[in-house]
Amino acid sequence: MRAVTVTPGVPNSLRLVDDHPEPPAEEGAILVEALAVGICATDHEIVSGGYGEAPPGATALVLGHESLGRVVEDPTGTLRPGDLVAGIVRHPDPVPCPNCAVGEWDMCRNGRYTEHGIKALPGFARDQWRVEPGFAVRLDPALAPVGMLLEPTSVVAKAWDHIERIGARAEWQPRTVLVTGAGPIGLLAALLATQRGLAVHVLDLATAGPKPELVRALGATYHAEPVTQLDLQPDVLVECTGAPTVVLDAMCAVGPTGIVCLTGVSSGGRTIDFDAGALNRELVLENNVVFGSVNANRRHWELAADALAHADQGWLASLITRRVPVGAYAEAYTPSSDDIKVVLDFTA
Ligand SMILES: [Zn+2]
Repeated sequence: MRAVTVTPGVPNSLRLVDDHPEPPAEEGAILVEALAVGICATDHEIVSGGYGEAPPGATALVLGHESLGRVVEDPTGTLRPGDLVAGIVRHPDPVPCPNCAVGEWDMCRNGRYTEHGIKALPGFARDQWRVEPGFAVRLDPALAPVGMLLEPTSVVAKAWDHIERIGARAEWQPRTVLVTGAGPIGLLAALLATQRGLAVHVLDLATAGPKPELVRALGATYHAEPVTQLDLQPDVLVECTGAPTVVLDAMCAVGPTGIVCLTGVSSGGRTIDFDAGALNRELVLENNVVFGSVNANRRHWELAADALAHADQGWLASLITRRVPVGAYAEAYTPSSDDIKVVLDFTA
């Protein structure tokens, strides 16, 4: 069967293998036929040789962590043949740490977790894969064209879950949210904000392309000016760019008792001048919180499946700006500035 692989650490080692072995039984009881995988910046980093780890004893890593497939067989009876399913990306560390021990592997303390298509577990970019019932998430049948958005949605479902847990420290009635960055994560964070009835503002550099209209179609307000020029004191800010100046401006932009959730991974190595004392003063005197959020546990995946099922399906479909047949895999993994989400199609 077909599989998209790389040799981690080796740039330009991306390959489509035609004779990849069938998924072994120990991978999980549920056999799944792949429909599609979504591609994100993490994949690009792995393809460029900057990230990723092959399974123990292997030199190649099967890519793909944003999965969507159809159940072929499930002898455990958890899912039925034909069910739409996604595989959870992260598995708990073997120790396990206190968080992994209770199923909160997204909060792993020792970094020894594994991740499909990223870190020591084969990914989902292959014709068939297997998954244990505890790591399989069923999707509404209507989500067949867009269900590979579940993984990025799980990331923002976790972010919102933690924002709300932090908000619960006081009497908290948020009204306004600012999302910085209108890529897939920012747009899905904005979608979940509109589902909460908040007034949603999204900021991005783009003035052309699909982003402004995608934001307006959510009933949200699009801004292309810097954070510091907005006449806005949001109760919540979800930062999805990882751009150092945007991150710093974001930390200063929220109103009293504001919560800033950082989701963008910066590459680091660039320094900028800023007034740390003024930031500290603002955080202390306004009871503000700045926190980082990554990955998602099973509860968040289920919240995300529910959020997608309740979203406008046409809007979700318009996030997918390219669907590339698996035979043209190299094209799919070549980023373009016009992309929101690129999907590798295994049915073609
Ligand atoms: Zn752990």
